[in-house]
Amino acid sequence: MKQRDLNANELEDLQQSLLKWFKEHQRKLPWRENYEPYQVWISEIMLQQTQVKTMLPFYRRWMEALPGIREVAEADEELLIKLWEGLGYYRRVRNIRKTAEMICNEYGGQFPEQVAELLKLPGIGRYTAGAIASIAFNQPAPILDGNVTRVLCRVRKIEDPPQLGDVGKELWRLAEAWIPKEEARNFNQALMELGATVCLPSSPNCLLCPIRQHCLAFELGKVEAIPASKPGKVPRQRYRACAVIRCNKKLLFSKRLENSLLEGLWEFPSVESDTKKKLKGTLEEHLERNYGIKVTLGKEIHQLEHRYTNFKTRVGFYPVTLEVPGKKSNETTSWVEIPKIEDLALPRPYRRFIEWYLEQFRN
Ligand code: SF4
Repeated sequence: MKQRDLNANELEDLQQSLLKWFKEHQRKLPWRENYEPYQVWISEIMLQQTQVKTMLPFYRRWMEALPGIREVAEADEELLIKLWEGLGYYRRVRNIRKTAEMICNEYGGQFPEQVAELLKLPGIGRYTAGAIASIAFNQPAPILDGNVTRVLCRVRKIEDPPQLGDVGKELWRLAEAWIPKEEARNFNQALMELGATVCLPSSPNCLLCPIRQHCLAFELGKVEAIPASKPGKVPRQRYRACAVIRCNKKLLFSKRLENSLLEGLWEFPSVESDTKKKLKGTLEEHLERNYGIKVTLGKEIHQLEHRYTNFKTRVGFYPVTLEVPGKKSNETTSWVEIPKIEDLALPRPYRRFIEWYLEQFRN
């Protein structure tokens, strides 16, 4: 499970690339205006189980009614519940009230800065303590939420489910080791922001990713398969072999048949099986029979894994270069100029392959 760590130069490059990206692309959010600890804390509690877009109206309404921690400590519980209405998990709002009272009574109204102290407060666990310490106080404290977990697993190609104890420990270790000491606030937020806006659970925008050159999952075509789902579910394994047939500056695509999964989408000429055995030979026969292309396929140029609901597929790509196109375009077969591939409706694994392919063979 454990990969070689990034070396010092790689880590510095990753940190700087991510920080630069965050500076340019971060969303404008109210608590980012002055990083007031009270605002950071409320935003973090509200964001548990909720996306930013959904929680923003609740956050604004709360801050209008309760602009400081003393107002929370002194507010009627009924008012707090009313302001929380719609966010669910009402235990959180009761803990907010208890924490506000503790801070006002025991800490002179000031949030503690250190994780160990923050952990003593009701409703504040390891993640929230790290978030308050780093975002409000710029302390080099790690954070690990779903977004950060996904980014770390993909960048370091951690293929075991993150819920496993050892994997969790390794992720916390990485989250801490990667923080540039003076830039914890921005770095932690950058990791979270990348997970929330670019490194999405499905269809991540790898081409827009500032740390793509350090991402092992991207390099090895495993983006869709990482992070692994919870232990217990073992999806059926399938294998697919695809021919990437190029003639001049065009690639050959065929249309998925009616009544098949992903019907109507375009794909490379391909064959699929429950076993890897003889798949390459089957693809050669398929090309000859259906496209009039007689070739001996060489080595795969790329492979990737894709997970569907009930099964996963390992897809291998074999290059074929033709001097003349042979088969002409028709309703179900199309030679597509490389810049126009973007307009095609492609299944996700093929889109991901094309992103990789264009980086390698644009000309
Ligand atoms: S390259 Fe893709 S998978 Fe890797 S971190 Fe970036 S967005 Fe995520």
